[in-house]
Amino acid sequence: MIKIAICYIIYMMDILSIIEKKKNKKVLTKKEIQFFVDGVCSGLIKDFQTTSLLMAICLNGLNFDETYNLTMSMAHSGKVLDLTCVGNCVDKHSTGGVSDTTTLIVVPVLASLGVKVAKMSGRSLGFTGGTADKMEVFDGYQTEISTQKFVELVQQNNASIITQSADFALADKIIYNLRSQSGTVDNIGLIASSIMSKKIACGAKTLVLDCKYGSGAFMKTKSACRQLAKTMVKIGKRAGIDVCAVISSMEQPLSQYVGNNLEVFSALEVLSGKQNKLFEVSSEICALALLKQNKCKTLQEAKQLVAEQIKSGKAKQKLKQIVVAQGGKVDVVENPNLLIKHSNQAQVFATKSGFVSKILTDQIGAICHLLQQTNGQFERQDDVGIILNAQLGDKIKCGDKLATIHFNKADDIEGFKNQLSNCFVVGKEPQKAKLIDCIIE
Ligand code: URA
Repeated sequence: MIKIAICYIIYMMDILSIIEKKKNKKVLTKKEIQFFVDGVCSGLIKDFQTTSLLMAICLNGLNFDETYNLTMSMAHSGKVLDLTCVGNCVDKHSTGGVSDTTTLIVVPVLASLGVKVAKMSGRSLGFTGGTADKMEVFDGYQTEISTQKFVELVQQNNASIITQSADFALADKIIYNLRSQSGTVDNIGLIASSIMSKKIACGAKTLVLDCKYGSGAFMKTKSACRQLAKTMVKIGKRAGIDVCAVISSMEQPLSQYVGNNLEVFSALEVLSGKQNKLFEVSSEICALALLKQNKCKTLQEAKQLVAEQIKSGKAKQKLKQIVVAQGGKVDVVENPNLLIKHSNQAQVFATKSGFVSKILTDQIGAICHLLQQTNGQFERQDDVGIILNAQLGDKIKCGDKLATIHFNKADDIEGFKNQLSNCFVVGKEPQKAKLIDCIIE
């Protein structure tokens, strides 16, 4: 007992000195970072101490070596998947956005071209959506399967999409949870290490990062997003991963549909040949992965291949195979209209004429979450969502329909309509909205 108490006091003192050090803008050593990560996982470092250090990091930053050391310590804080038996696997990762459903397109397109994709995905976080939740829209789909089954499915079908289990990058799971409750999410070093620790733990050797900036992303500006992308690419390279990043705009939702069912509908539209923003970003990610896998010589050729896989129906067929292999029903792939259940609908109209000059995308994601709350309690409802009828730059007249809310039960639907209406900022000048900014290698 006394030994445990002494041990705890030593821990307390050490974590205190680490917190003090970062508070005073000093650089943490590899040993100190490892000590922090070990203490977080063992529970010897308490949540209030962890959040205190996280806040000091948010205020004073991490240099590249600190970020890399944090990434590697977190990556090895749980299981590390060895995918050598599968061969060269590709992974993709989005930094998070609204109506960001590229995984449902990228994975089947690549897998249908013989590229192996072992994809561990997250759940909805804050105002952003989660791929694991969207996969569960296919009735019966199992996102939680054993690692062995996951690897077998990648070998058999070239792809599997599962949810990231706590067994991988355990420290990130704990730290992320605390970050989301302590206002310490939006720091480049913490985001980069959080994402890259999971990618390294999941065995990625080839990785395309999909980095978002704008009102619906964690990085609000293009320059912060580029900096995040550069940091993650540098971490990946140092860790032996062939990695690049696409920088794209999240100044508006990536498709006109927000909400789990609606977003699956939107992915199915693309897999049926619709060419829109969601297609453009998905095609770019696929093309970069194909180049990295030496399936093509130029980006143009790779994009052509992507378009052909979609046109021939092979990508959609592959999605069905992935879904069925994990116990999901594919009736909605055959008939996507089943996804647009006839829940209650409320429409939002423009109150003035002009051009859509800004869309408060994070607010739209947040409204979608709030629509799923009853008495302040969140209860996931896949059929709830928002369909947007106006995009950035559109010329609109007073009275035009801006959006439709799909809801089950909302005591204050007028309040939601008002909130959604305020998400569309109408100005006098037409705006140019560039989707893809650049590629960072
Ligand atoms: N996604 C993650 O996995 N971690 C972050 O910190 C932000 C987005």
